[in-house]
Amino acid sequence: MFDFTKVDALIDEYMPRMERDLKTLIDIPSVEGESAGEGAPFGLEVQRSLKEALAICEELGLSTCDMEGYCGYADLKGETEEQVGVLGHLDVVPADPADWSHPPYNCEIVDDKIYGRGTMDDKGPMLAALYGAKALAEAGVPLRKTVRFIFGCNEETGMACMKYYMEKMTPPSCGFTPDAEWPLIVGEKGIMHHEFSAKWAAAESGARLVHLTAGAAANVVPAKAEAVLLDFDAELPIADGITVKHEGNETHIFAAGVAAHASTPEDGENALAKLFHYLAKLNFAPAGAKAAIEKLSALTQDDSFGADFGVAAQDELSRTTHTPTVCSFTEEGFTLTCDMRFCLTHRSDRYLAILKDTAEKNGFDFAPGMYQEPLYLGADHPLAGKLMESYREVSGMDCEPLIIGGGTYAKVMPNFLAFGPEPYGEPARAHQADEYITRTELRDAARIYARAIARMAE
Ligand SMILES: [Zn+2]
Repeated sequence: MFDFTKVDALIDEYMPRMERDLKTLIDIPSVEGESAGEGAPFGLEVQRSLKEALAICEELGLSTCDMEGYCGYADLKGETEEQVGVLGHLDVVPADPADWSHPPYNCEIVDDKIYGRGTMDDKGPMLAALYGAKALAEAGVPLRKTVRFIFGCNEETGMACMKYYMEKMTPPSCGFTPDAEWPLIVGEKGIMHHEFSAKWAAAESGARLVHLTAGAAANVVPAKAEAVLLDFDAELPIADGITVKHEGNETHIFAAGVAAHASTPEDGENALAKLFHYLAKLNFAPAGAKAAIEKLSALTQDDSFGADFGVAAQDELSRTTHTPTVCSFTEEGFTLTCDMRFCLTHRSDRYLAILKDTAEKNGFDFAPGMYQEPLYLGADHPLAGKLMESYREVSGMDCEPLIIGGGTYAKVMPNFLAFGPEPYGEPARAHQADEYITRTELRDAARIYARAIARMAE
């Protein structure tokens, strides 16, 4: 097999350059903005980050192409045209400097930590892979296949970038996405978002529910929920996590829970379900709202696995979750969005049928929303073997690949797996305040990606 001693030494040598390039990219706030015409469908900052990334690739000796600002690619030529790929993205999620102790868009290095939006997700790891490949070329490691680095520009807000790429190009035969966590993700559950709703006639007088709101995003377990009743005079029971405030003829009822990503709802505490259960014990008008609350309370006794919706299921490797996440009641109706992550071996249609049926039985309307079928290559897939070997060699860790409920960029292309670089078992840094990657993590990522690329391109 290959001797990577020289490759690792070259990566050490490249570190100052890699840090310089990372700063260049981090200092561009490449959050999706308004389309700025041709070549900038996601705004000028995203366009600038793509141009800079491709300039860095050119400097490393790769040939590049800007695909009208939707995405771009850079090729490290191998002996043949057959491609293996590294798929990452240059767009970032917004950062509020008030929440950060370092500027999100002015990369700072403190001790071993490199701070800034995109250091971990996903500019840092893309540079690590690029410099890893550069070290392979420089060290004379033979690459039979061409290595294509693909830079998406709209991963965080819709993936229009990869739709564009897939329409115009044939994807590489296999590859990895450095946009998740170590060691390797071999299974990603299916995802469905869907909505239940109903309408009714408003009540003119008496104790009545006029408003309910919960949920910040369809993929987050709500930590807060609030309902407003008018002219409610009856006594209110005391309940855990529920607080009440009176304002004139308004009674505000607040439920408090614990937020969690909807791919792991059991880690959170669903404030919305708590509010449904509380309200179900009260009497109020209109009849439609009261009936809806009772049904929703019954449907969310199990607020993590969907038993009451009829979708609870398990296969050998995974378990389906089902979480009510966003809800709104007006005087005349409600909508409820749920997030579902379903078993690796299942397909979405099986669940659609059950959910439609549940809606019908309860007199609700049902509207399917976004969905992604599961991805499962399995730990014995040859690609998984090559990637795990590369990870184990550098980290010295003897661990098993993961199955997750979240969807990664790897779902975009067949035979792609999400591979690093967040440390396994630690709180996520992507999308958080004070996002960082350490110099050691960056260097190790480059070493691991170099090995993985060499093995894929062999
Ligand atoms: Zn990402």
